Amino acid sequence: MQSNNKILRNNKIISNYVNGEVVLQKNLQMANIFNPALGEVVGQVKLSGALETREVIEVAANAFKSWSLVTPLNRSRILFKFKALMEANIDELATLITLEHGKVESDAKGELTRGLEVVEFACGMPHLQKGEHSRNVGTKVDSHSLMTPLGVCVGVTPFNFPAMVPLWMFPIALATGNTFILKPSEKNPSVSIRMAELLTEAGLPDGVFNVVQGGKESVDEILENDKVEAVSFVGSTPIAEYIYSKGSEYGKRVQALGGAKNHMVVMPDAELDQVTGALMGAAYGSAGERCMAISVAVVVGDEAADALVDKLRSELSTMKIGPGYGVADENEMGPLVTSEHLEKVKYFIEMGLTEGGEMVVDGRDHSITTSSPGYFLGGTLFDRVTKDMSIYQQEIFGPVLCVVRVDSLDEAIDLINEHEYGNGTCIFTQSGMASREFSDKIQVGMVGINIPIPVPMAFHSFGGWKRSLFGPLHMHGTDGVRFFTRMKTITTRWPTVSQVSSDFIMPTMK
Ligand code: NAD
Repeated sequence: MQSNNKILRNNKIISNYVNGEVVLQKNLQMANIFNPALGEVVGQVKLSGALETREVIEVAANAFKSWSLVTPLNRSRILFKFKALMEANIDELATLITLEHGKVESDAKGELTRGLEVVEFACGMPHLQKGEHSRNVGTKVDSHSLMTPLGVCVGVTPFNFPAMVPLWMFPIALATGNTFILKPSEKNPSVSIRMAELLTEAGLPDGVFNVVQGGKESVDEILENDKVEAVSFVGSTPIAEYIYSKGSEYGKRVQALGGAKNHMVVMPDAELDQVTGALMGAAYGSAGERCMAISVAVVVGDEAADALVDKLRSELSTMKIGPGYGVADENEMGPLVTSEHLEKVKYFIEMGLTEGGEMVVDGRDHSITTSSPGYFLGGTLFDRVTKDMSIYQQEIFGPVLCVVRVDSLDEAIDLINEHEYGNGTCIFTQSGMASREFSDKIQVGMVGINIPIPVPMAFHSFGGWKRSLFGPLHMHGTDGVRFFTRMKTITTRWPTVSQVSSDFIMPTMK
């Protein structure tokens, strides 16, 4: 892994990508980029202010004039090439993600693959954007509806999926004829620039896809600027709520996906080895830094709970933790993203103890299988967690799993429905009746039956309920196409001169 370390230690400066090239602005505030496995600063990102952000918006607005006229087929052809280039460079892209996020490389490749499925979906846009047509809505009158692009669209994205979440947005935005600005997380900005370069290499005209690096000041300019038509956001709930209300106040179309607390219900008839395997990956994969991670196991009956906790304790004792790169026999869990986030998760563990959670495995004691000095934490397991505890109520976003014991499926459903978040959930059972009851009654956007992380495929839409999503439309799938287009309905008649008359009543079709 010497080459990775070389990429890392060259103290790179990440900046904006505008008009088909990297732009190195002067005199900007910088934020450090860390390699979480080493706990070292490995570069810096230049943070755009309002002025630099405004300049990028101007570029995207100008590019819209010609890009929106490119035929849908030709737009799709560029995306086909982009997909091929992403695949040809997948090792490099995965390494970039791992070096700045911490997740293991196979997981980084998984995120890229899931993101590329949205590119595949977007390549079919000439079909999806055909609109509607009705002949003879009245005598010799036809109507057709066009799905037109909006203009400049922006994606503001979180640290935990630096490639996949932007890929939920921009392939559909571009394929439908919009121009796009990506505002990635400051924590891992490099992959956004690499994707921009590959879009240019695929033949995307300059200015159609741009990247602006920045924080609140840049985002506020995006929300207030008249030339921005739509904002697609993914991140924590307080920021999602802010983006949704401020963006809406400024007349923009907004979809804002927020945080989560995802429950897995384990019925007494569930196959416990299968449940244990599913839970280990869903709770501790990517160090729990997934919006669809399972952070609560709701076990029906003490017998199943005792057996499951024993199995999880045993699995946790052998879980391989260490850097996500550079080892032949890959680790299962990498570090947390920053030292601040590590401290926050440790604080929650302390709170869990103070509030009476029964500690089964304390990740803070875990002997990490590496001498790496990075932001590592072992998998943590609490049993007998109750709904009044903060480790149950709040999103921890780390490798901490809480077991809540209940007596019945109804009690499990009520518990989940009472929670403020409604992103994902699942049930493990052999009963068709229980799973049907669960999927009918549960107030959550994405539901798995014997599937721990039910992330919908690109041709379905991704989104939670309650405080996990602000706005009516979910990401990608048909909702994504609707989000990035607006309808124009044209009604046509070619009257003969003798048919011309004045109508003073509401027109009705004859
Ligand atoms: P975050 O909310 O801190 O940041 C997300 C984005 O918002 C970043 O680009 C950041 O620069 C920007 N931002 C941060 N503070 C801002 C402010 N005050 N004003 C304007 N913009 C601001 O989220 P994060 O820590 O990067 O990501 C983790 C969160 O994202 C978790 O809560 C996780 O559940 C959530 N998430 C949700 C989904 C989903 O689909 N619902 C998917 C992935 C992540």
